Amino acid sequence: MVKKILLVEDSKTSGFIYKQKIEVDTEYKVDWALTLAEAKEFLDKNQGNYFAGVLDFNLPDSMKGEIIDEVVNRDIPSIVFTGLVDEEVRNISWSKRVVDYIPKGKKNSINDVISLIKRLEKNKERVVLVVDDSKLSRTLLVTLLKVHQYTILEAESGHDALEILQKYPEVKLIITDAIMEGMDGFELTEKVRDDFSKEELAIIGISSQGKNVFAAKFIKAGANDFLIKQTFLTEEFYCRVHQSIEALENIQKIKEAAVKDFLTGLHNRRYFFDAGKKIHAHSRREKHSLCCCMIDIDYFKKVNDNYGHEVGDIVLKHIATTLQMNFRETDIVARFGGEEFCILAVNIEENDALRLFENIRKNIEETEIELHDGTKVQVTISAGIFSKYMDDLNEMVKESDQMLYKAKETGRNKIVMKRDSVEK
Ligand code: GH3
Ligand code: MG
Ligand code: MG
Repeated sequence: MVKKILLVEDSKTSGFIYKQKIEVDTEYKVDWALTLAEAKEFLDKNQGNYFAGVLDFNLPDSMKGEIIDEVVNRDIPSIVFTGLVDEEVRNISWSKRVVDYIPKGKKNSINDVISLIKRLEKNKERVVLVVDDSKLSRTLLVTLLKVHQYTILEAESGHDALEILQKYPEVKLIITDAIMEGMDGFELTEKVRDDFSKEELAIIGISSQGKNVFAAKFIKAGANDFLIKQTFLTEEFYCRVHQSIEALENIQKIKEAAVKDFLTGLHNRRYFFDAGKKIHAHSRREKHSLCCCMIDIDYFKKVNDNYGHEVGDIVLKHIATTLQMNFRETDIVARFGGEEFCILAVNIEENDALRLFENIRKNIEETEIELHDGTKVQVTISAGIFSKYMDDLNEMVKESDQMLYKAKETGRNKIVMKRDSVEK
C-alpha cells in the first residue's frame, strides 16, 4: 500500500495549494487536517500509513508545537513548515526531533518541502555505519539518523566496523568516534581508505570538545569531514551528513555519464576499451573464446533525410535496445558513435555467435518501428564479426571493422564473419 503524507495547515487557501502540489510532484496522496484535533483523528484512523508529516507550527489549537509531539511520537518523520521562524520555534522544533523546518516566507517554498520528502525517500537506500564504543554516543547519533530515514548499521569497535564493511560494501558513510579501545578512529579511517577512496565512501570523524587537533588528524587520515561531539547542532549534523553523501553521489553520476552514451544509454567507446581490456585479459587467462562484432545501420542517412533527425534518434534507440536485450551482463554493447555499434561477447562459440547475430539482423529487418503519428520505419543492419582470439583488442576491433566493410561492399543487410582466416 502506498503511504500518505499528513498535511496540517489551518489556512484554507494555502492548504489547498500545498496538498495539490505535493500530490502532483510526489507519489503520495495527502490527508489534510486544519487543526490539531483533526490531525489526531487522521492519525488514529490511519495508523502506520503515513510516510511523513508536513506541519504548520501555529494552529488554533496548537501554539507551542503540540502537533509535532503528536506526529513524532508515532515515529512519523515530521517537517515543520511555518510562517514564523524565531529562536523559540527553532528550539522547540529541534528539541522535538523534527526532520527540518522550512520557512514559508520564500516564494515556492513548498518546493523545498517536496525536495525534503524526496530526500527522505532516498535516504532509506543510503547506508550509514556508526562506529563508537560508547553505547550512549552511538544511540544519540542513531536516533538523529533514524529521523532522516537512513539505513543504519552500528559497530562498537574499529575491528567490528571493518568486518561490517566487508559484509556491506554498499555503506555510503561512516561516522566514527576518535578514541576507542583497540583500533582508534584514525587508524580505522586509514584502513578503510586502503580499500575505499574518498569518492566511494565518505567518513566523518567525531572528536570530543577541546581536542581540536583531532580534526586535522582525521582529515589527514582520509576523513571527509569532522564534528565536535558535545557542541554540534542537529541542523549542522544533518547538513554535513547529507553533503558528504550527496558529494559522493554526484561524483558517481559524473563517472556514469563519462562512460555512457547520452542518447541510447549504452556504454560508449571509451568504456568499451577500458572494460574490454579487462575482459580480454580475463578471457586469455580462462581460455574463454571472445567475439567482437561491429554493426552499422544501412543507409541511415536516408532515415534522417526522409523522416528527420528526431526519427533517426528513435531508430538509434530502437537498435540499441534490441542489441542490449540479446547480450549478457558480462558482454559489452557499446555505441561507438553515429550509427555504429560494437559488441564484445565472451565465451560464445563461433557458430552460436553467427546464429545469434543473424537472428538479430533478421529481427531488425522485420521490425516496423512505429512513430507517434503511426508512420512505420524499417531499417536493416550490416555486421562484421571477428571471433578468433588476438593478443590485442584493438586489432580484433579492426578486423571486425574490415568484415563490416565487406558486408557493406557486398550488398548490406548481411553479416560477414572471419574465422580461422576464412571469411563466411
Ligand atoms: P551506410 O549504409 O554506408 O552505412 O550508409 P549510411 O547512410 O548509414 O552512412 P553515413 O555514414 O553516410 O551516414 C550516417 C548518418 O548518421 C549521417 C549522420 O547525420 C547520422 N547520424 C550520426 N549520429 C546521429 C545521431 O545521433 N542521430 C541521428 N538522428 N543521426 C545521426
Ligand atoms: Mg550506416
Ligand atoms: Mg556510418
